[in-house]
Amino acid sequence: MATLEIHDLHVSVEAENGPREILRGVDLTVKQGETHAIMGPNGSGKSTLAYSLAGHPKYTITGGTVTLDGENVLEMSVDERARAGVFLAMQYPVEVPGVSVSNFLRTSATAVRGEAPKLRTWVKEVKGAMERLQMDPAFAERNVNEGFSGGEKKRHEILQLELLKPKIAILDETDSGLDVDALRIVSEGVNRVRETGEVGTLLITHYTRILRYIKPDFVHVFANGRIAESGGAELADKLEEEGYEAYVTKGGVTA
Ligand code: ADP
Ligand code: MG
Ligand code: MG
Repeated sequence: MATLEIHDLHVSVEAENGPREILRGVDLTVKQGETHAIMGPNGSGKSTLAYSLAGHPKYTITGGTVTLDGENVLEMSVDERARAGVFLAMQYPVEVPGVSVSNFLRTSATAVRGEAPKLRTWVKEVKGAMERLQMDPAFAERNVNEGFSGGEKKRHEILQLELLKPKIAILDETDSGLDVDALRIVSEGVNRVRETGEVGTLLITHYTRILRYIKPDFVHVFANGRIAESGGAELADKLEEEGYEAYVTKGGVTA
């Protein structure tokens, strides 16, 4: 069972007037097979946590540890993290001009698996996954995220998730900008991956609505750069009713 352990993580970014601490001591353990929802107000540092785990160079780790099965994740390059089984679906996926979805997926799968997938089974795998996500086959020939609608971007992220089969999946606001039908299709994709029992999921969200489709085992409230409270699925209901106000300290969330 793979386990991601985050202990007392502190992260800063370089702002105009010097370094600014965004994450202020995050503690979290995610095991394969578990689904954790991270919920919190805008600007609380949720995306910073996601990027830091994936190894984005903009974020400087100033303290704490992150391990995957005891291996130091913070020492790994972005590629090494992906190979180790850490997957990030970004809140704002980036365009990759000149690279088709089909090529991108195959290159990613080759990198993660350590060898190129056999063409015949690969084509079937991709086709099956695209059908399940109700994606037009022509989509595979489009350039990654170029002119994609919000819904297409998110489906493409879940398509990667289904094909790359990570150990730890970090989904940053996969629900944002989706209409009800797209939200259901995307959620079903996440649930299919979850049902394999082989992925630990960190579902980052601002709203509770995706949690109607994906039932988390744990809910964590994120505020001021750390986890302010943890509980079960019932905590999401409380947040739905009461909002985040009680968790946000006066004077700005990361002041
Ligand atoms: P969330 O995802 O919870 O909305 P973010 O992690 O995106 O929060 O941002 C947390 C805080 O850190 C915000 O105040 C944001 O402006 C700031 N921040 C994030 N990235 C940077 C950056 N690269 N440079 C300066 N400030 C940043
Ligand atoms: Mg935000
Ligand atoms: Mg964010």
